[in-house]
Amino acid sequence: MKKEIAITAFQCKKCGRIHYPYHDRCLDCKNREFEPIKPKGNARLLTYTVIFNLPWGFDQRFLILGVAEFENKIKAMGQIKADSIDRLKLGMEVRPSWEPVRVQAGEDVYGLKFEPVQ
Ligand SMILES: [Zn+2]
Repeated sequence: MKKEIAITAFQCKKCGRIHYPYHDRCLDCKNREFEPIKPKGNARLLTYTVIFNLPWGFDQRFLILGVAEFENKIKAMGQIKADSIDRLKLGMEVRPSWEPVRVQAGEDVYGLKFEPVQ
């Protein structure tokens, strides 16, 4: 069963700039009114990094984290579902999902994941 991606971004009602996470005032025009928006469609991989020495609660030996931009311009960070970075390319299409990313106090903690689209 697919879970909805529990991310809300905030688009400035004046200039349209998208903020995620939330800011009190628009970083461009200082406006304080925002429209909540949800990420749409697939995303494009903007950058990624590999993290070793993970904190407690992770099973994996390492994690690939990336920032991707959704079709409606929301940028968010998530885990990349890949065994290595060999197949990853900047600008490639990735499919978002909302899945358990680690276990905390015996419970799944959900987060954003991106799977490369072949
Ligand atoms: Zn603005």
